[in-house]
Amino acid sequence: MSATVHEVLNPATEDLVRTVDLVGVEETDAAIARAVEVGPVWRGLAPADRGRLLRRFGQAVDDHLEELARLEVANAGHTIGNARWEAGNVRDVLTYYSAAPERLIGQQIPVAGGVDVTFAEPLGVVGIIVPWNFPMPIAAWGFAPALAAGNTVVLKPAELTPLTAIRLGELALDAGLPPGVFTVIPGAGAVVGQRFVTHPAVRKVCFTGSTAVGQQIMRGAADQVKRITLELGGKSANIVFADSDLERAAQSAPYGVFDNAGQDCCARSRILVQASVYDRFLELLQPAVQGVKVIAPETADAEMGPLISANQHARVSSYVEGDSVDVAFRGSAPQGPGFWYPPTVVLPKSTQDRIWREEVFGPVVSVLPFTDEADAIAKANDTDYGLSGSIWTRDLGRALRMSRAVEAGNLSVNSHSSVRYSTPFGGFKRSGLGRELGPDALSAFTETKNVFFSEE
Ligand code: NAD
Repeated sequence: MSATVHEVLNPATEDLVRTVDLVGVEETDAAIARAVEVGPVWRGLAPADRGRLLRRFGQAVDDHLEELARLEVANAGHTIGNARWEAGNVRDVLTYYSAAPERLIGQQIPVAGGVDVTFAEPLGVVGIIVPWNFPMPIAAWGFAPALAAGNTVVLKPAELTPLTAIRLGELALDAGLPPGVFTVIPGAGAVVGQRFVTHPAVRKVCFTGSTAVGQQIMRGAADQVKRITLELGGKSANIVFADSDLERAAQSAPYGVFDNAGQDCCARSRILVQASVYDRFLELLQPAVQGVKVIAPETADAEMGPLISANQHARVSSYVEGDSVDVAFRGSAPQGPGFWYPPTVVLPKSTQDRIWREEVFGPVVSVLPFTDEADAIAKANDTDYGLSGSIWTRDLGRALRMSRAVEAGNLSVNSHSSVRYSTPFGGFKRSGLGRELGPDALSAFTETKNVFFSEE
């Protein structure tokens, strides 16, 4: 029994791509019941066999990489280059964690009177709730390590972007994962997502999305002491010192914030520039911003596509048009249909301005000057968030001091890279709880069991 139907629109054209049935609580409960039932089969597989199935799933993704990428261009307006990277990331995350079942080792701890060992036990059913901004990678960062650790998974894509997740669910079955091990359930957050929180058989919820909904999930999880991982919002700083390669810092700054039209939790949306080079930096930034290719996302050299929806367009516009904000300069964007918004650089009056403090989640970046290291640290940390950030300097000592002082989970020095599947990802403060990816991700999907074997 389907509660509602969602019309998936192409954000670049506003054309209807497809309709998708949004499921209700009954179907959600049925999928959870299947995931419970098949749990012993999945965790009972020999570790090498579970790994082999995950590699086959990764291979199936690779075999359909272009199809998945095209689907994401149509559904989310991602540039074709980004969408190919995203599908490739799903393959890589599956491949990386396919080696994990055979390496899920415990400890043998010296004790008197016997032998003590630990086991990394799967949790059971894991519920994964995905936002619309990176539908494929964020899904895989949850389901790949969860499955590798022996859990079964129910996954809810965002209402706006269900298509690639649905296809990944089909590819998992084609690859030979037993039915019920990985089920994709398109539905409303307040229905399906909320059911993951309240259903006692779902032992963990991995949520990526807004801080407000993350807080709601954390409150709800308390009732059952349910395990959670939260990846939430961000308002990250890009800190540019006078001793940096200023040309490179300015040239790369747009790509640190306008990627995915700024709908990126890691967007470096607050640029802090040392006062002595502030004017020169803005001079260099202007052509870099105006050079960003904001064109039809399926075009091979497109660098930025549209926003995801009319709502998101209205939200982003309200930050710039609504608050008498000082716009320094803008890039270009196509006219006509589609939720297009040009790359925009604004100059706030102070760190108290709304646009400096709140996550816009669009292609808008604010620039402010700072005086010295202490001022840069104070301004960078003057936020409730702490997800990522960049530091531009040629002074190694300063790079070390700054990278220890900035309160954020993912920093890069002289680059804007945030995410590699082999390194941990997650936020400080209100940007989240727990870490995804990297060598330790499986510990977020297992319980440590300690067993003592008596010699007697
Ligand atoms: P959102 O919080 O509105 O929705 C995220 C997901 O949660 C969707 O699938 C939605 O259906 C579901 N949801 C909504 N209400 C729910 C409820 N009451 N119970 C359970 N699930 C519910 O966020 P969004 O607008 O889709 O995504 C944008 C936000 O995500 C931004 O704030 C962004 O910073 C954040 N984000 C964070 C990361 C990260 O890794 N830290 C990555 C991507 C996006």
